[in-house]
Amino acid sequence: MKSETKIYRKIFIFLITLLFTQPFCTAQFYGDPPDNTHPWAIHDNNRPQPPRVEPAENPGGAPSDAIVLFDGSLESFTKNWSHTNAKRKKDWKVENGSLISVGGAGTIASKTEFSDCQLHIEWSAPSKIVGSGQGRGNSGVFLMGKTEVQVLDNFNNATYPDGFAGSIYGVMPPMANSLNAPGQWQSYDIIFRRPILKDGKVMDEGSMTVLINGVVVQDSTPLEGGGGHIARSKSKAFPEKGPLSLQDHGNPVRFRNIWYRDLRKRPVDGGTDGKISPEVASKKRAEIASKIRKDALTKEGKDKLLRLMESLYYQENAEAHAEAEKLGAQFVNDVSEQPEGRKGDVMQLNNAVKFLVKHKLMPSNHPGVDALKGLIEDNGWNK
Ligand code: MG
Repeated sequence: MKSETKIYRKIFIFLITLLFTQPFCTAQFYGDPPDNTHPWAIHDNNRPQPPRVEPAENPGGAPSDAIVLFDGSLESFTKNWSHTNAKRKKDWKVENGSLISVGGAGTIASKTEFSDCQLHIEWSAPSKIVGSGQGRGNSGVFLMGKTEVQVLDNFNNATYPDGFAGSIYGVMPPMANSLNAPGQWQSYDIIFRRPILKDGKVMDEGSMTVLINGVVVQDSTPLEGGGGHIARSKSKAFPEKGPLSLQDHGNPVRFRNIWYRDLRKRPVDGGTDGKISPEVASKKRAEIASKIRKDALTKEGKDKLLRLMESLYYQENAEAHAEAEKLGAQFVNDVSEQPEGRKGDVMQLNNAVKFLVKHKLMPSNHPGVDALKGLIEDNGWNK
């Protein structure tokens, strides 16, 4: 009996805590407000929810927002790829669900051009071992047609490490050899960020993260110009978009299940998440404030007041400010006349005011501060 009472008491305390903390947690006036380089507050409920992406049923499969560049069919090859060598005598082949490099057919390039991406591609070197070093099962995955993640049968085949399977060719060896035997499928998962230069100045070197068969072999490796053969590459600007290219190095390497997804833009590339420039932050804050002011128009009384106050911490606005002052005075007046049942509203508004004062977004000598304090004390709501 005694323990039951204890449990009920615990549940009661939990419910009361939930009742009082919930409105403050779901509303704004909670985490640190926006600043010069961050347009969003900490724990900002005005921030859009992450878009839903349906994952694939099987690992390696294309999620719902992926662009599929090759699904195993001849149609998807014809629709999505072009040969780049007009003088070639042969073409790449599609056979048993695989896209096969044919010696002399040259490079193929995706018709779609893109940039920062998550890329998935699977390949298989010929099971019949021919050649050695760079001559065994060589092909290549060229992001934006410019920087090669090497495809090579290095299962039992040494070569210069910065030309190994999973190397960024001429830049960085992979940190491990996690290849399957030739003839088996290998998966590459690549996260690519293009180099960005502005007026010749490197803003972001660009990077690649590569997993071979689920093992990380490149970890945000700086691209240092993208690499290449023999010569050390120098930092250079990449265009905004480019195709995905696959190399013909004379070996019949097979490919399948090729898809990519675009990535969120970096701040240096116009993105508005994370630490951004004061100019972009200010523009974004104005946009958020305007959206909240519009939403405030759909509300009345205390809810409208809170929404307007919220908009003001993203951007000052004379009209919204005047309206908030008017609604605030009205609120205090109404509650003074009829305080019954208004404790929750007053505490909520007081919490918002305390937050704004704490973050110096409202002067501590604003008459509203004392007015709310007075209402709370007069009605004994502080006990
Ligand atoms: Mg190659």
